[in-house]
Amino acid sequence: MSAFDDELQARLNSIRESGLWRELREVNSPQGPRIRVGGRELLNFSSNDYLGLANHPALAEAAARAAREFGAGTGASRLICGSLSPHHRLEERLAAFKGTEAALAFSTGYAAALGAITALLGREDTIVADRLVHACCVDAARLSGAKLQVFPHNDLDRLESILRRADQGAAAGRSKGRTLIVTESIFSMDGDHAPLRELVDLKDRFGAWLMVDEAHALGLYGRRRRGLADALELGDRIEVQLGTLGKAAGAAGGFIAGSRALVDLLINRARSFIFSTAPTPATAAAAMAGIDVIASVEGAERCERLWENVGRLKHTPLLAAPPQAGPPSPIVPIHIGDEAAAIRLATGLRHQGFFVPAIRYPTVARGSARLRVTLGASQSASDLADFSRMLGAIRNAPAEPATE
Ligand SMILES: *Cc1c(COP(=O)(O)O)cnc(C)c1O
Repeated sequence: MSAFDDELQARLNSIRESGLWRELREVNSPQGPRIRVGGRELLNFSSNDYLGLANHPALAEAAARAAREFGAGTGASRLICGSLSPHHRLEERLAAFKGTEAALAFSTGYAAALGAITALLGREDTIVADRLVHACCVDAARLSGAKLQVFPHNDLDRLESILRRADQGAAAGRSKGRTLIVTESIFSMDGDHAPLRELVDLKDRFGAWLMVDEAHALGLYGRRRRGLADALELGDRIEVQLGTLGKAAGAAGGFIAGSRALVDLLINRARSFIFSTAPTPATAAAAMAGIDVIASVEGAERCERLWENVGRLKHTPLLAAPPQAGPPSPIVPIHIGDEAAAIRLATGLRHQGFFVPAIRYPTVARGSARLRVTLGASQSASDLADFSRMLGAIRNAPAEPATE
C-alpha cells in the first residue's frame, strides 16, 4: 500500500474509533414507506420524501418524456447552450408557485446556497447565522470571505446584539458592508422552527438582509404549501428564499426564489450556477411535475395524510416533540447523545425491520447524536403502530449492544 493510503488509513482509524464511521448502504428499491436494503425489506423512517413523490408515476413519466424529447444530457452550462426549455418552464413554475417575481434553478440545494451567498456577500460584509443552519450555508459563508458570526439557536437577543454591534461599527466607519441573516424555517435535524416573524422585524429594523432555507418546509406549510414563510404571510419581506427540489418535491435540484434583480444577479455572479453543467432535462421536468402535484388537490390530500401520521406518533415514547408551540414537523429526533449508543439503537431497530439511521457529527454537534425519525404521507397506520410499539419496548428494555 502506498504512503498515501497509509496516511488515509490512519485518519479512517481515528474516525472509526470515535464512533463516527460512515458507509453507504445499497438500497435495492425505489423510495417509499418500505425499502429493500441489502436484500431485506425495512420500514423506512429516514427519508425526506415527505409527500411520497420520489416514486410517483407523474414525476417518473415527466422525467421519461423530457429525456425522450430533450435527450439525456445538456451539453454545457446554462449560460453556454445548456439552458433548455425544461429549465425555463421549471423556473416559471417555481416563481408562480412561490409567488415571487423570479426563481433560479441550481443542480442542488447545496449549490444554490453556495452560489447565492457568495454572489451576494464578500470580504466587507457580515453573515449572521443560526448555529443550526445546514452545512451548505456555513460552507457558503466561509467561501464568501465575509465575516461569519453565529448566534445560539433561535436566540433573538443574541442576534440583536450582534446586529447592534455591526450597526455601531458601520456608524463609526469601521465597516461599510452588508449584513445577511441566515436561518432555516424548519430545522433539518430537530424539526423545530425559527421565529420568522420576529426575524423579519429585526432585520428590517437593522437594515439587514434575510435568507431563509425552506428545504424542509416546501410542500408542507400554508394553504398553498409554499413553505412556512408564506404560511406566515412573510414571503414578500424575505430577500432570499432557498429551496430544494429533492425533498418533498420528490426530484432533485435546488432553487433561489426572490426578485428579478436577485435572479439576474445570480445568473451573472453565482459561480456554482455559472461554472457547472445544466441539470438534466429529466431532473428539471420531474421537479416541475413534483411542484405541480404539491400545488394540486392531490398535494393537499397527501399533506393532510402526512399531518395525520405525525399526529399518530405524537404520544410515542422517545419521540420528543420540540419544546415549542407552533407548527408540527415530520422530523422527530430521538436524542441519544453518545455516538456509539446511537449506532447500537439504530442497529437494533434495523434488526427489527425499521430503518432509522443514527445521525452523528459532523451532521450534528459531537455528543448530540440522535436517531432522526422522519414521517411521510405514505406510511400506513399499521406500520406506524408497529414502530410506536417497538419504541415503547426499547424504552422499557434498552436494546442489547449489537454490532454493526
Ligand atoms: C438538504 C438540505 C439542503 C441541500 O439541498 P440539496 O438539494 O439536498 O442539495 C439545504 N438546506 C437544508 C436545510 C437541507 O436539509
